[in-house]
Amino acid sequence: MTAPTRGSCQHVDPETGKQCRGYPVADKQFCYFHEPSYAERRTLAQRIGGRRKAEKARQRKVDPDVLLPPEVYDEMIPEDQRIEVKSTDDLMPLMDRVLTLAFLGKANPPLINAITNAIKTSDHLLETRVFEDRLKELEEKYGMQR
Ligand SMILES: [Zn+2]
Repeated sequence: MTAPTRGSCQHVDPETGKQCRGYPVADKQFCYFHEPSYAERRTLAQRIGGRRKAEKARQRKVDPDVLLPPEVYDEMIPEDQRIEVKSTDDLMPLMDRVLTLAFLGKANPPLINAITNAIKTSDHLLETRVFEDRLKELEEKYGMQR
């Protein structure tokens, strides 16, 4: 990405008249959920997610690997195989990989669900951070203290 675009998704909710607060995906005016050209992959992601809801219910057990301390994680996962999410732009390639694996049947559905949920959570966290930064800027500009 060249210049940082600080705008929001251009989608306006027809019922509330409120603009979407989503962060636009690369080179687009809309977020992942409102970008028209992403309609197909959104449908796919939803279909995969919906079909696997029953399986998800059985996946309530805690995976001990998730609770490993960071140093063990560092040892287990080679540096070049770690996924770093620094902006929403990093999320689309991940989503594409998940969809490809799902299509080819090369990843088990609970894992696909877990990864998809992690991507969604990352997106929300990144969005929140963007808005917090913008709010902070405004507060500083107008001399407001929290
Ligand atoms: Zn949006």
